[in-house]
Amino acid sequence: MPTIRLCLSGVFALFLYACGGAADAPATTDGAAPDDERIDLVVRGDYVVTMDAARTILRDGAVAIDDGDIIAVGPAADVVAAHPAREVLDGKRRVVMPGLINGHSHAAMTLLRGVADDLALMDWLNNYIFPAEVQFVDPEFVRVGTELACWEMIRGGTTSFVDMYYYPDTIAEVVERCGLRAKISATVIDQRSPDAEGADDSLDKGVGFVERWLGRHPRITPIFGPHANYTLNAEQLAATRAAANELGIGVSIHLSESPYEVQYAQDTYGTTSIEMLESIGFFDGPTIAAHVVWPTDDEIPVLATRNVGVIHNPTSNMKIASGIAPVAKMLAAGVRLGLGTDGAASNNDLDLWEEMRLAAFLAKVDSMDPEILPAIAVLSMATDGGARAVGLDDVAGSLEAGKRADLIQVAFDDVHHVPTYDVISHLVYVTDEQDVDTVIVDGEILMRERRLTTIDTERVRAEATALAASIRDALNERNANREGE
Ligand SMILES: [Zn+2]
Repeated sequence: MPTIRLCLSGVFALFLYACGGAADAPATTDGAAPDDERIDLVVRGDYVVTMDAARTILRDGAVAIDDGDIIAVGPAADVVAAHPAREVLDGKRRVVMPGLINGHSHAAMTLLRGVADDLALMDWLNNYIFPAEVQFVDPEFVRVGTELACWEMIRGGTTSFVDMYYYPDTIAEVVERCGLRAKISATVIDQRSPDAEGADDSLDKGVGFVERWLGRHPRITPIFGPHANYTLNAEQLAATRAAANELGIGVSIHLSESPYEVQYAQDTYGTTSIEMLESIGFFDGPTIAAHVVWPTDDEIPVLATRNVGVIHNPTSNMKIASGIAPVAKMLAAGVRLGLGTDGAASNNDLDLWEEMRLAAFLAKVDSMDPEILPAIAVLSMATDGGARAVGLDDVAGSLEAGKRADLIQVAFDDVHHVPTYDVISHLVYVTDEQDVDTVIVDGEILMRERRLTTIDTERVRAEATALAASIRDALNERNANREGE
């Protein structure tokens, strides 16, 4: 190679430097700027889908990143000329877009993927999931399960997620290491759970978690996760909101998920779920509400005026047969809407591309109107709209100078992307998680050309497989004992 011969000749010190960079590290934007004057990274793409308010899509565009901030978005030639960088990611057959936002998950439940399928929500929860969790979930389970989930989410282009599970300190430690951005809910629930004895104990422990993590890491926001209105009474729900307000944090909750919950609220309080929460002041602070399948026409305006972030989980709602959420109606009423996968035990994966596709198709077939939820509306639910729903829109959700650099490169080189007429159509109706090529959060590359940089995937595979083997043995033993009874 001629460049190597030139380097070895050692004629020009500067040229030597540039060649050395080319040999050891990816290409830079030019050969002239001294290293300390270069920005960290430029990410190029045949298309840059910004998801800004004007829905700007750049052909042959680029995003300039320094110290984890997006400092410029524009035509590649301009960005490259204005911002010499230490590294430039090539954009040939690549689409650059904001990273996806998973607004509702129980990450560690990846380890319970497939242990109990084809059941209704309350049967599934009370007879399978809650007992299995009390038996198996400990900090080690949460560590391995959350690592498995982070691996899967990074692989699929998710850059932020909202989690609700047990041992939240362990979740936070994993998130800190793997590089994702997360709001982590300490579960508050009035029953014996893996990490608490009941509502008061879980709230006390949640307060401890929040005090340990509030302001500790810029990518991690601790919040409370009051589980649902049928696992906490009105007083406990109000106490959780009061504690959240005292600490200056938000909450996430399962809300109006199933006909069971709606009936429970009616039987217990003589009103519907959302009205009941509104009546106790539960929405007096940032709220992320997962599912919201059964809001009444009177409740939808409450969600809008109270700025509740509603997370639509189409796969989970379909699999457990919870129902079809009135997504288009909520969007039309101005409700903030995002998308979530729910836990892997009710999905059974963490693929937001699939959620986008199903959200669109479900709304269309439900209304018998193919125009009701267009591709761009669904893409927004996974990006800028999702960021607004979960309260991360000041840092993520769109590619704009001033936001943090949470973005992905999607490869458009597989057969299903040929030809490409409309990039938005392709992202929503064609792209799947295997197409994601590179993932960046806070300016750090977490996956480069489909190779994860922060997670030792073979170690996680081995640990998850070993844990699953012991869970399988225990479940088999339990089932054998039940049969013998
Ligand atoms: Zn859930």
